[in-house]
Amino acid sequence: MGKAAALLARIAKMAPEMVELMRVITAVPALGPVNGGQGELAKLQALLPHLAALGLTLERVDAPDPRVESGLRPNLLAWLPGGDGPAAWVLSHLDVVPPGDPAAWGGDPWSLRVRDGRLYGRGVEDNHHGLVSSFFALKAMKELGITPPGRAGLVLVADEETGSGHGLEHVLRTRPDAFSPADLIVVPDGGDQSGGLIEVTEKSIYWLRVEVGGRQTHGASPHRGVNSLMAAARMMVATREVIAGFPQTDQRFGLPHSTMEPTRIEEGVANVNTIPGRTVFYLDCRLLPEIPLGEVEAALRQRLATIAEQEGATVEISEVQRLQSPPATPSDAPVVRALQAAIRRVHGVEARPGGIGGGTVAAFFRQRGLPVAVWSKTNPSLHQPEEWVEIDTLVRDAQVLGLIFARLWDQE
Ligand SMILES: [Zn+2]
Repeated sequence: MGKAAALLARIAKMAPEMVELMRVITAVPALGPVNGGQGELAKLQALLPHLAALGLTLERVDAPDPRVESGLRPNLLAWLPGGDGPAAWVLSHLDVVPPGDPAAWGGDPWSLRVRDGRLYGRGVEDNHHGLVSSFFALKAMKELGITPPGRAGLVLVADEETGSGHGLEHVLRTRPDAFSPADLIVVPDGGDQSGGLIEVTEKSIYWLRVEVGGRQTHGASPHRGVNSLMAAARMMVATREVIAGFPQTDQRFGLPHSTMEPTRIEEGVANVNTIPGRTVFYLDCRLLPEIPLGEVEAALRQRLATIAEQEGATVEISEVQRLQSPPATPSDAPVVRALQAAIRRVHGVEARPGGIGGGTVAAFFRQRGLPVAVWSKTNPSLHQPEEWVEIDTLVRDAQVLGLIFARLWDQE
């Protein structure tokens, strides 16, 4: 049997061990302070003996955080030494989101349940799935004595669910030299249900608050006031024209063009017979990465100011969120090609590089020019009650990651 076949066969036998590690880490809630928790340290401590047993080299890159009792948010690089070649890294996050309404669960969210080939519990899909799969990929390599041509490592981070300031962002700030553009970096925290989506790019996220000022008056005498709701309505309609000025398309995205949508509107006057003098609404814009946010902002400001002037109203635009997406990972980057070959072999799927409309932690790598691919065979139960993952998927994703870690995706 060739090395790659031996690795796949070894991982295929590891399902019972995977379930046991899942049980251990699911039992340790790891909620960030924003979510009312004490962070991720206890969970990392539960994992450390397992990592040490593999003989991995460990480097902590903890972030101080006075909001938690321990005063720190743990981040860890843990790798199997290899040759002098580029490293392969798989990043998973330690934190989870709160379980929400306990009544919506079929049992304790912090106690793993196994039923019909699935595991249930908070965090099992997001992101224990990636963590456990990558850990057992390394474990199988270690047991088979496979030495990779470059480091094969795990990046375990805190704070992914609440901004990554104490997680990956801190790691990249503190240890910018830990990663090289030649490395293969995989984030198994996104994808689709077929395993066929390798996420290489994300739209920019631009959220705006628009406050329209008029002059309140009685409903019977609109000529004495300035109807802010009417002006706001015209502005909302005009967003269609503004976004039409940015007609670029990128077929890697499911929705290949940029969008600008009015979403929330703050409550205005409470009665029908008052003409409002103040209206506040919000826009959610998702823009292709190559579009400079400044150009969209300028076009929007100009159009809304014109309408305000015509209506005798005022308009103030402020930012709620502004995330300019970094340049995409090239669709032919080595990590993408490696994943495509490994996914074809393990899942029997032709995976395609694509984009998504939301933001992931991978953006922090891309900002630093590090080509990263977000991939797993995921399911939509994350952040939901009764979060689940299939045991078979854990095994297969471990096989894919094993082929990447060992650089054996094109070997027998
Ligand atoms: Zn996640």
